Amino acid sequence: MDSREKATARPRTKWMILIVGSAAVLGPIRSPAGEDSADRPIVRGLTGEVGDVKVVVPGAESVGTLADTPRAADVDLKRMAEWAMNYLIRTPRPDLGYEPVFQCHPLRCPPAPEGQDPVVACDTDARMDWEWYYMREVSGSNAGREVETAFHKRIRSYIAPDGKVWSHPGAFNEGDIGAKYGEKDRVIHIWGATKILQSLAEHHTRHNDAESKALARKVMLALKKLATWDDQGRCWFACGMGAFKADGSVSPNGWNRQPAPIVGPLVVYWQATGDADALAFARAYADGMIAGVQPDGLRFAADGRFDGHSHATMHAVWGVARLGLATGEAKYTQLAKGAWDYMLTRGTGTGWFPAGPDSCNETCCVSDMISIAALIARSGYPEYFDYAERYLRNSISNTQFIVTPEFEAYYRRLNAAKGEPAVTAGLDALRRFQGGVIGGTGLNDFENELLGRVSSFEMFGCCAPEGMRAIYTAWTETIGRRPESKLGPAGVYVDMSLSRTSPWGEVVSFMPDAGRLTVKAAVADAFFLRPPHWAPHDQVRAFVGTKPAPVRWSGAYVRFDASPGDELTITYPLIGFTHKVDGLWKATAPNLKLTFRWLGNMVTSAEPATTLTPLFLGKPRVLPPAPSLE
Ligand SMILES: [Zn+2]
Repeated sequence: MDSREKATARPRTKWMILIVGSAAVLGPIRSPAGEDSADRPIVRGLTGEVGDVKVVVPGAESVGTLADTPRAADVDLKRMAEWAMNYLIRTPRPDLGYEPVFQCHPLRCPPAPEGQDPVVACDTDARMDWEWYYMREVSGSNAGREVETAFHKRIRSYIAPDGKVWSHPGAFNEGDIGAKYGEKDRVIHIWGATKILQSLAEHHTRHNDAESKALARKVMLALKKLATWDDQGRCWFACGMGAFKADGSVSPNGWNRQPAPIVGPLVVYWQATGDADALAFARAYADGMIAGVQPDGLRFAADGRFDGHSHATMHAVWGVARLGLATGEAKYTQLAKGAWDYMLTRGTGTGWFPAGPDSCNETCCVSDMISIAALIARSGYPEYFDYAERYLRNSISNTQFIVTPEFEAYYRRLNAAKGEPAVTAGLDALRRFQGGVIGGTGLNDFENELLGRVSSFEMFGCCAPEGMRAIYTAWTETIGRRPESKLGPAGVYVDMSLSRTSPWGEVVSFMPDAGRLTVKAAVADAFFLRPPHWAPHDQVRAFVGTKPAPVRWSGAYVRFDASPGDELTITYPLIGFTHKVDGLWKATAPNLKLTFRWLGNMVTSAEPATTLTPLFLGKPRVLPPAPSLE
């Protein structure tokens, strides 16, 4: 039964419009504890107006055991990662040095150009390199080991003996898809170096090898030398996230004013190795971003506003959020939160954010918003976990590309004039890209009909892997053992209603059937389960096994002291509401008005409805099993 049937079948309570989630009310920082919905649902984090809030499924007053209760058909992160492995294994082309593909256009026939792709180097490939670690971890797959080894080797070949990362600048000239580059075009690639630094740290974390650690330090020290330092110990790159020429001068391109996404990789490397030089470097660069020390660089206003490319900026901000959580220093979290809150005022809150102009979104930015939301949440604003969950459910999960029978029919229809052999070849080629996340979609569809079809149904080689990162973020942030923090005492924290197994316990989401989250504890510890921020506290119930338990609030969480094998459950009313938004597309569609219908953190439908490929399905998207890759 889908949620809309339930909405008519079982309404219990109805509230009037409770909040206007416009830019004006998103600005102030809310304290995490005590301000969650106390006795009525308050829906936060959406741009526009929320109304018609009602209980769709009342909170259960009794529960069955996991064994006795049918599992809901909810998003399956492990299966998403299994599909992602298909893309990681099958897009690198061995005859081209395991070069993957930036330019994939799923509706075109053929979908991707033959031969070398000038946009890949230090972009698609450097982004994909992380995903081998992440998607393998989530999926548990052992497939494609030889491709992975060759791929990491490809990435390390960008590193010169002195630690500098060299590549041609094709990724900075994304529009020049016919470019041919040679040895003489190579530049010192800052963006690529930051990605590779984190890859090496991720490798070291998993393999504890001396080689990756030594190489990472070399890359870090080379970056340190390339930076410009002021007399207050702050630093920047004269080329921003771009590149230097061999003589040390700036290689001019449109990306030079964007800060480099270096703070995150430095923090990850520091956490992997304990190298204090990296932490000092991370602070120096973050302080430089906050103060705006790069002479012609992007500036953040005191409230976090900025005028720049959404993903490039938020990718750099992400690292500052990581530094804020790692050090506990408020100035870093405040920059990240200010920039994040500003981005939210430009997006709908469903998981759509403008890439820069207001005519299209970009999955890379959605993934950044998920990563940063989780870090802001962990830094003391737990409702941001709901925002991360929304974007995972409504954007990433719904746009992971697979060739379904519906897609195949659509593709055949669109490309019928090309003839059967070409269409079949196109579909075969597209099957290699299955598991990548679509990069450009619309507000209610894949084709972006409402905003002039800009970036319509595109699988950019940046977004396909960055979307995978969002799967990893959701998986790591759903449950984890955390130290004492602004969220509460040390223990196992369950932050999002997504199902996964883990060393600490199995998390079972009951979306979309009910507001229920159950954790089967695998360890003895304090467990903290978080109901969504909109769940009225006085209607949350707790159970151990089938037995009601006292609801012990610890900030936004319900505390249990568990023994292995205990089934810890919270229940709460699952709400539905209407969300209206307009005014966000002043340049492209000034009169456009959207209405979204929500069930909990999931969008079920949008108006106007699309006649093309719908983004919202009325229920969680559950993928079929991934193809065997062994
Ligand atoms: Zn992208």
